[in-house]
Amino acid sequence: MLYGGIEAGGTKFVCGISNEDLTIIKRVSFPTTTPQETLPKVIHFFQEYQAELAGIGVGAFGPIDVNQDSATYGFITSTPKLAWQNFDFVGTLQKALAVPIAFTTDVNSACYGEYIAGSGQKVKSLVYYTIGTGVGGGAVVDGKFLAGFSHPEMGHMLMQSHPADHFEGNCPFHGNCLEGLASGPAIEKRLQAKAQTLAPTDPYWQIEADYIAQCVYNTTLMFAPDRIILGGGVMKQTQLLPLIKDAFLDKLKNYVAIPPIDEYLKTPGLKDDAGLTGCLALARDLAK
Ligand code: ADP
Ligand code: ZN
Repeated sequence: MLYGGIEAGGTKFVCGISNEDLTIIKRVSFPTTTPQETLPKVIHFFQEYQAELAGIGVGAFGPIDVNQDSATYGFITSTPKLAWQNFDFVGTLQKALAVPIAFTTDVNSACYGEYIAGSGQKVKSLVYYTIGTGVGGGAVVDGKFLAGFSHPEMGHMLMQSHPADHFEGNCPFHGNCLEGLASGPAIEKRLQAKAQTLAPTDPYWQIEADYIAQCVYNTTLMFAPDRIILGGGVMKQTQLLPLIKDAFLDKLKNYVAIPPIDEYLKTPGLKDDAGLTGCLALARDLAK
């Protein structure tokens, strides 16, 4: 049996095929343009494997409808990407491919990938954040995604502005939420330079670390998870993690006893494969 995964991101769709042990045996990627342009490419890719394909796991940018009782289950809903608003993603795939499909957010799938095969193995509860083009968070508890009326949107938690930061934030909904202050595009807008071009010693990283530390603080006190993983393009700045640890401990003031900090806060063990691996693992679960 083979499993399919679709990491449907805002800039590209990564599609992959794995075997039973989640080894990725084929991977392609297509730019995210419009559903009319992108989906036929995705469907064509999977059709080649259809005879052996047991299921497909999808981790999508959103917001999306993950409520299986809803009339719009499987839709991308109120996304700012106009071409994808109210698009029946799961329905379109199912009609063309006739295989079981699992559907969750891109950050949930990355969280699940890390939980099954990355830095989150052997913990009961795991929270995963990506700090990239957007900021998003997902949580897995005992193998299940944390959800209520919908999926979490942790990237939009409100922040206290850093005293040395005069940027008003670029989230079109909230201004200075976490995404509005700490995403890659927020850094670029604030400093008029791409985040990856800043020197590791640039004083800005202290401010970035402060925002991410506020996020870790909030996450710790709301969920008391066993571990928090920080991924996404911005976290490729390796000087950030130690700054975040220091700032977080400073804010926490020993209010609760947490696991050893180097066990508690980690970067993704699967690196850029966390999302796709999580999608493949969700597809494998469908067959259980
Ligand atoms: P996406 O969020 O689109 O899936 P990424 O997680 O790579 O993709 O995020 C892209 C964002 O991360 C961009 O805004 C980019 O400026 C920033 N970024 C990418 N690589 C780095 C890096 N090495 N250092 C700092 N920022 C980076
Ligand atoms: Zn926001």
